[in-house]
Amino acid sequence: MFDKILIANRGEIALRVLRACKELGIATVAVHSTADANAMHVRLADESVCIGPPPAKDSYLNVPALLAACEITGADAVHPGYGFLSENARFAEILADHNLHFIGPKAEHIRLMGDKIEAKKTAKRLGIPVVPGSDGGIGPGDDAMAIAKKIGFPVLVKAAAGGGGRGMKVAQTEADLQLALSTASNEAKAAFGDGSVYLEKYLTKPRHIEIQILGDGRGGAIHLGERDCSLQRRHQKVWEEGPSPILNAAARAKIGETCAKAMREMQYLGVGTIEFLYEDGEFYFIEMNTRIQVEHPVTEMITGIDLVIEQIRVAAGGDLPCAQEDIVINGHAIECRVNAENPVSFRPSPGKILQYHPPGGLGVRIDSAVYQGYVIPPYYDSLVGKLIVHGKTRGECLMRLRRALDEMVVDGVETTLPLFRGLVREPSIIDGDYHIHWLEHYLAAGD
Ligand code: ADP
Repeated sequence: MFDKILIANRGEIALRVLRACKELGIATVAVHSTADANAMHVRLADESVCIGPPPAKDSYLNVPALLAACEITGADAVHPGYGFLSENARFAEILADHNLHFIGPKAEHIRLMGDKIEAKKTAKRLGIPVVPGSDGGIGPGDDAMAIAKKIGFPVLVKAAAGGGGRGMKVAQTEADLQLALSTASNEAKAAFGDGSVYLEKYLTKPRHIEIQILGDGRGGAIHLGERDCSLQRRHQKVWEEGPSPILNAAARAKIGETCAKAMREMQYLGVGTIEFLYEDGEFYFIEMNTRIQVEHPVTEMITGIDLVIEQIRVAAGGDLPCAQEDIVINGHAIECRVNAENPVSFRPSPGKILQYHPPGGLGVRIDSAVYQGYVIPPYYDSLVGKLIVHGKTRGECLMRLRRALDEMVVDGVETTLPLFRGLVREPSIIDGDYHIHWLEHYLAAGD
């Protein structure tokens, strides 16, 4: 096992990793920008190192500063959390070159899955069903119109390097295609330095269902069921739940086994998520995330498995926690991402939290790094915290969530709590009857 882990992140995920390290008896090093000197992850860690000024590129993405922090503290492993350097294959390689362990997959797998075109080809090869689309990138010599017509409109132009919903444009008809291609490509070039794009059939009413997997890097892999993340705004998840209200045990076992089998074949190491769109009983792979995800607590609540602890154990060469047949889905969990944003315009609302009261009671979990008097800096994401609620059934979970949302107080900044208080009382949500465009329609109707 590792002796000392440097946590190359901030906010709630830094705290989440820190908690796992404490339980495992591993010493922790927090890193922080000058804007985060008073952050909770810094206060709770055994040691801390300032790695630069507020902009992420000068601090949380500053590889030389992170290496220096490992060196001076004697850390032997780095946990990247999510975002920042978590899916940067080069970072994993640089750490290895310095005899440091990267707590994540093998660099080759991060690289492979980071390119969505290659990821789709790999998924197909491993027997995972994919969204119909162009077989690879759209090059200058390709007749994009012919390919799009073959797929059938509407089509979606997607960036190979895409992430966070960027570099994605819908072409409803032939007339929209050229503009969609150039806008998606330009957006991707500006955001990721890579303008390659590909085409996909645009599914009109799918759900987003993702499978959590865990691999030991030696050909062992299990799946831990699914999360339904269909409630999205601008392709960003807002509410996640598990199990999916529309999947039965047989369908879960089938898609789960397909994913686990693919991961065994790859000899995948660590946690990962295989994301699908699901429509008319069919799964269509869209991408794989090779990191711990924001919504991982949903799976923890219904399986009882601490994903971060298991991620650290397998990274250190340990075994999987159990066999596939020992994974039992217990009850239902829902996560709400509470952001410091105006609940109508979604404009970020950084500033000082004057009053903070997190809800409690049976089945209620808060993953957050804020406290009363904390100032949310304007430089990073606007997550105040994740409220995760568990119940024996989906009905009990909703009942508890309604109560927990009403109990939660965050004053001083605007938050998206009013949005969730409305959602949890909506008939379509209560019935579990929604798809990936439902929330956008709901928000537009409320304007
Ligand atoms: P990113 O990496 O930017 O998050 P994804 O490929 O994971 O991109 O897609 C994000 C979201 O965009 C999906 O959850 C879904 O809502 C939407 N989306 C992606 N592909 C399609 C598609 N082929 N048809 C319809 N919606 C899609």
